[in-house]
Amino acid sequence: MTQSSHLLRQILVKIAALQSQGRKSLAVFDLDSTLFDVSPRLQQILMDFAAFPLHKKLFADQIQHFKNIRTERKDWGIKNALERAGLDKHHPEFLAAVRDFWIERFFSNEYLQFDLPYDGAVEYVTKVANLGADVVYLTGRDVQRMGAGSALILKKWGFPLDDIQTQLVLKPHKDLDDAEFKTNWFASLPTNKFTDIWFFENEPVNILHLREQLPHVNIIFFESTHAGKAMPPEDIPAILHFLMGDD
Ligand SMILES: [Mg+2]
Repeated sequence: MTQSSHLLRQILVKIAALQSQGRKSLAVFDLDSTLFDVSPRLQQILMDFAAFPLHKKLFADQIQHFKNIRTERKDWGIKNALERAGLDKHHPEFLAAVRDFWIERFFSNEYLQFDLPYDGAVEYVTKVANLGADVVYLTGRDVQRMGAGSALILKKWGFPLDDIQTQLVLKPHKDLDDAEFKTNWFASLPTNKFTDIWFFENEPVNILHLREQLPHVNIIFFESTHAGKAMPPEDIPAILHFLMGDD
């Protein structure tokens, strides 16, 4: 059994034990790059950029390289994929156009359909909920641009979402800082409602902010990709997937 599997199982055992004592637990999952691999969303946006008639005309040389573009798990934003295809330099108009095109689509309901859940994610969240824990999807996506699509896609993949035991929480406004929004949300939970709280998150900045203010939350670092603005603390557990291995 891998280290990830071992930790994932330990959490299930704890939830079951608490539940049997009549105590509540809460599992909170970030969405982008924690439950969902967003690199297919990124890939689709880049392909659509290349297919856009005006872009074919304006950026013919660059678009020839787009057939080589493959997004990867470790990619953050568009920069890495463009660099690998040799498209990172010497053309500020092109880079600005890709960036604008990307921002408009990446943070939109329409493109969430291309995301893929990480291995075992749907099954794991379902197990957590079936054992009786409350589940919250806590995301830096905002209600206006991505609320409807987020709920739709969670349901499409079979993630539990009943708005009672299992809920989706998005930023009320896009300009809010992700780390502050998430920490404040945890701080607003009723005191003593939950005996144990777990938080699965890929972004070290969010992890560090939360942990400084609310050290009682058990944080699990999901090792996929992040903005590179901070490193994850070495003393918190990390997982690479949501697979629990053989029974
Ligand atoms: Mg994330």
